[in-house]
Amino acid sequence: MLDIVNKGALLYIGGEWVSGSGGTEAVINPANERVIGHAPLGSAADAEAAIAAAREAFDTGLWPRLPARERQAKMTAFLAAIERRKEEIIALTVAEAGAPQVLARFLHYETPMKHARATVELATRDPVTAHAPEVTPQADGTKTLGMALMVRQPIGVVGAITAYNFPFFLNLAKVIPSLAVGCTVVLKPSPYTPFAALLFGEIAEEVGLPPGVLNIVNGGAEVGERLTTDARVDLVTFTGSDVVGAKIQAQAAPTLKRVIMELGGKSALIVRPDADLRAAVACGLVNFTTQCGQGCGLLTRHIVHNSIRAQYVEALAAIARQVKVGDPADPATGMGPLIREAARTRTEQLVASAQDEGARLVAGGKRPSDLDKGFYFEPTLFDDVKNHFRIARQEVFGPVGVVIGYDDDDEAIGIANDSDYGLGGGVFSADAGKAYEMALRLHTGNVSINGGAGAMSSQAPFGGVRRSGYGLEYGLQGLNEFTYAKTVSFHGG
Ligand code: NAD
Repeated sequence: MLDIVNKGALLYIGGEWVSGSGGTEAVINPANERVIGHAPLGSAADAEAAIAAAREAFDTGLWPRLPARERQAKMTAFLAAIERRKEEIIALTVAEAGAPQVLARFLHYETPMKHARATVELATRDPVTAHAPEVTPQADGTKTLGMALMVRQPIGVVGAITAYNFPFFLNLAKVIPSLAVGCTVVLKPSPYTPFAALLFGEIAEEVGLPPGVLNIVNGGAEVGERLTTDARVDLVTFTGSDVVGAKIQAQAAPTLKRVIMELGGKSALIVRPDADLRAAVACGLVNFTTQCGQGCGLLTRHIVHNSIRAQYVEALAAIARQVKVGDPADPATGMGPLIREAARTRTEQLVASAQDEGARLVAGGKRPSDLDKGFYFEPTLFDDVKNHFRIARQEVFGPVGVVIGYDDDDEAIGIANDSDYGLGGGVFSADAGKAYEMALRLHTGNVSINGGAGAMSSQAPFGGVRRSGYGLEYGLQGLNEFTYAKTVSFHGG
């Protein structure tokens, strides 16, 4: 049994390990439905206690007022303490989130750690920007000298609410920039994946973060609701579905707090007739099978030129059928399970709706017959999809790709942009200039050309438009979300 799930089912509030007033809940491994541990369940009262602790640590504690270099040293120690538990965290990601070994190591662990180190470094930048003096003539013939500085200051108490699909990644992406700029935090993970979050309490304790600087309250909507409605929380950073995002925006409205929304997607991959077909097909597969299709930015709508569509579909279906679905703990496994039965049922319903609407199933479409435990589903591909079908409009969050044909670039752009979402996008073409022009026309926060991996850049901000949300993560823009700009002016004469 992993150490992380063995520590007792306790929440971390104000530097203490405390019982959740909602009792405890068994957390299961989605690969075999076995209990991996019992997690504490918080209630609104626990959320309130955590908010109070974070507020006090921000208002009266040293943390926000430490020199940036001192906070950086603490955050560097925080990341080093995580790194010492790397193998345990990777094993937890396999057990808790159902991530296959290789994915757990590189995408769930190494990538966010790289971003976290870059973020800690970035947080030591000078928070003061000096503006050039400005002379303004007055009516009496004198001249006023305007002089101002802009100082970036921590926004205050951050409520961080995360999804289950990349638990360590998402928690780290919220906790590290918040703490690095001097905010204090209450982290609420998905109750499907509580242990990846509670781990941070152990790390905070080990490196001696002051009490209340980081608090972790596992729980459901009740805890999230408290975090988003309480006036003592200055910023809510949320990663999850558009449906819950809309609720949170409404919950947060009365207190006018700042909100960052990292929501779902139904992103398009445009494959032009001059594309390297093998590369496009390989990229296409990754984009509906990674983490069993449970990825916000995955390109699950494949908009393929009709002159090459038959070849594309045949090649993609062939490799989709070869993906080894099974226990993510087995290093040979290519794709693990969905998180819970409810996610599989939703996937099945959307697959049935696609068939009803006239899409042609070319691979998968059902549960693997040889796996009777675990929430597995076969990599599933549809051709002859129309963009108005439910399967093309709704986020499945399961391993389903759809192929839609087109005849010219304008039509491809039109189909891609005809979506409620705007998170990711992709263009495959031998013509780099044309692909770039098309990338600029996509109404979406991120576009990858010929398989480019923007998510691997720690400097590149990530975020969406429309129902994919607003606000950014990573890079300087992402870091600045956790601060506010204060202008300080001087009487210059
Ligand atoms: P979800 O929206 O169901 O839940 C997300 C979190 O919100 C959970 O912690 C949940 O307990 C909490 N919550 C639920 N109701 C709440 C309420 N009323 N107030 C406050 N908190 C509440 O999402 P999920 O099913 O856990 O995750 C999948 C979704 O997350 C997908 O839509 C996916 O695209 C999205 N996602 C987006 C990104 C991104 O960066 N854009 C990254 C990962 C996942």
